[in-house]
Amino acid sequence: MSFSFDIKHAESGSLARVGTINTPHGPIQTPAFIPVGTKATVKSVLPEAMKDLGSQALLSNAYHLYLQPGSDVLDEAGGLAKFMNWPGPTFTDSGGFQVLSLGVGFKKVLAMDAQTFRRDDVIAGNKDRLAHVDDEGVTFKSHLDGSMHRFTPEVSMQVQHQIGADIMFAFDECTTLHNTRPYQELAMDRTFAWAIRCLDEHKRLTEERIGKPYQALFGVIQGAQYEDLRKKAATDLGTLESSGQSFDGFGIGGALDKGQLGTIVSWVNEILPEDKPRHLLGIGAPEDLFVGVENGCDTFDCVLASRIARTSAVYTMEGRFNLSNSRFKRDFTPIDSQCDCYTCTHYTRAYMHHVFRGKEIISATLATIHNERFIVRLVDQMRQALLDGNFADMKADFLGRYTHRSGQSRD
Ligand SMILES: [Zn+2]
Repeated sequence: MSFSFDIKHAESGSLARVGTINTPHGPIQTPAFIPVGTKATVKSVLPEAMKDLGSQALLSNAYHLYLQPGSDVLDEAGGLAKFMNWPGPTFTDSGGFQVLSLGVGFKKVLAMDAQTFRRDDVIAGNKDRLAHVDDEGVTFKSHLDGSMHRFTPEVSMQVQHQIGADIMFAFDECTTLHNTRPYQELAMDRTFAWAIRCLDEHKRLTEERIGKPYQALFGVIQGAQYEDLRKKAATDLGTLESSGQSFDGFGIGGALDKGQLGTIVSWVNEILPEDKPRHLLGIGAPEDLFVGVENGCDTFDCVLASRIARTSAVYTMEGRFNLSNSRFKRDFTPIDSQCDCYTCTHYTRAYMHHVFRGKEIISATLATIHNERFIVRLVDQMRQALLDGNFADMKADFLGRYTHRSGQSRD
């Protein structure tokens, strides 16, 4: 088995740590931000450019790749990394989130703020409901062509083994903050039962597919905003062993109330085994990354950096703004004067304004390179600050200047 996690430094007085996740496709220095290439591509950016901007790994989505081109195609191609010409480690999200979010129609954001979110944002009416959950799995209608499919824990494992990412996630039932407490309990029991089935099927497939690189399996901790449920999930999944197999790491998923993000994550990470990596699913806004790192998360993914880039929104040390705004028409400075990315080294805000206004394809490429670099580098800086013993100062300095707040987003 060529998967391991080494902790190099553990912060005293907090849950933060610095380490290395070793995978068959190479190491990941943690904490690390993992950019998202949902359908085996980070939209508009070449893999070489992702490597150049410091991306250590990429995360794709099992649900999307199962529907198109089909996970068997990736298997035949030699796995996800080879298929998309990415030389490093890869992750796949299990499909549970997408099956349910696309199925229930609550779009791609799990309400980040329990105070302001409305019922209408979450359930788009029963008529549009494309997914039905039962104890065995989920039956859903493809958002592409309306065809009917069924995902069970076993199917998710088969699909993810065919895709061949280094790190996979167990199939879980993802709830929203809107769901009632009894429903959260039901979903959590189901997620636990599914976790056992995932481990069993994972074990069977690992033995059956001799000669393939080892794929690590992470269990997913649900429980929404409830302390007892989160702690129970962390205890149960953290110690779970089935067919002689336990989880290689953990994902923290589901509805995360932004105001309580640090509290929820610390409930879970105080319980999970220290020697296994922890991934915070769908979190990537700068201020949330600090909270995740100081509460013991090792890796993060979020589609926001690339998605907002395509709408001309960019992150900078002074906050987030839109390059299509007319105030940038004659601004011949870089997007962020402190950024070392390809875009900031070679182009001005005026040029970026021009290509966005002209709807030129290069606008997406250049803005995505900048945003992904900004977030990857920010987490790299947090890692260095932990090693240097000045994380608190670095955080205060960054947040003192950076003000925009944005939510959770999975794809
Ligand atoms: Zn830049």
